[in-house]
Amino acid sequence: MIEKLADLQPIMLLVMLVLMYSIESVWPYLRRPVNRWRHDWRNFVVSIISFVVNGFIGLGVVTFVQQTEMSRWGVMNLLGVGDGVKIVLGVLLLDLADYVSHNLQHRIAFLWLFHRVHHSDPNLNATSSLRFHPVDVVVAQGVAMCVAVLVFGIPMVAVIIYGTLGLLLLVPQHSNFRMPDWVERYVSWVFVTPGWHKIHHSSDQRQTDSHFCDVFTFWDRIFGTWHRVKPDEIKYGLEEFGEDRQHRVGYLMLSPFKKLRAGGPRK
Ligand SMILES: [Zn+2]
Repeated sequence: MIEKLADLQPIMLLVMLVLMYSIESVWPYLRRPVNRWRHDWRNFVVSIISFVVNGFIGLGVVTFVQQTEMSRWGVMNLLGVGDGVKIVLGVLLLDLADYVSHNLQHRIAFLWLFHRVHHSDPNLNATSSLRFHPVDVVVAQGVAMCVAVLVFGIPMVAVIIYGTLGLLLLVPQHSNFRMPDWVERYVSWVFVTPGWHKIHHSSDQRQTDSHFCDVFTFWDRIFGTWHRVKPDEIKYGLEEFGEDRQHRVGYLMLSPFKKLRAGGPRK
C-alpha cells in the first residue's frame, strides 16, 4: 500500500501543478509577471531538468534506504524502537534533517550559490515549485536524506510518507494563491502553508534566512526562525537577479559560477 504511494508520486506532482496553475490563472493573489508566458516557460524548462535529476536521486535514495534497513544501522535500530514509533519519529526526523540542510544551504556560501537559483524568482507561482539548480537537488533531496536515514535508522515507510507530504505541500506553497486567513492561521500551527513559505522567498535577507521548514512548522517555531509578514507586503526574488536576461535557463544553470554585481553569496 505505502509502496504504491511512492509509485504515484510523479502523478501527484503533475496533478498538483495542473490544479494550482489553473486556480492561480483564474484567481491570482499577487501581481503576475510582466511577461507571464516567458516566466512560466523558463521555469518549466528548469523544472524538467530538476525533475529528471530528482528521479535519479530518488532511485539512489531508495537503494540506500533498503541497504540501511537490511543492515539495521542507526540510533533507532540500536535502541530497539518499535516499528510504529520508528515511522512517526522517522517522518519528524526527516523534516528536522531537511530544516538543518536548508539552513546550511543559506549559511554556507558555496551551497547558497546553487540554492539562490530557487530564490531568484521575483514572481512566485506554481511554476516556481521546481525551479531548482540540479546541484541544489542533490544536496537537499539526496545527501541530507541519506545522512538522516543512516544516523537515525529511518525506515522506508517513513521516507515514502515524508516524501509524499512534502510533494503535496510543495506546489501550493509556491503558487500565486491565497487560503482564507483563518485556514492559514490554524493549518500553519502544524504544516507549512502558502503564506508561511512565501516569507522565505522575500528579498529582505532577514526574511529569506527564516521559514526554513518544508513540511512541519515546528522547527521554525522551536528555533525562532519565523516572522509575521503578509505575502502581499513582500518584495520577492533577489537583488542580484534584477535583469531579465538573468532568468534565462542557461544563465540560471551557470549562475553559481558567475560573480553577480549586487548581493553575491551571503555571509
Ligand atoms: Zn531557501
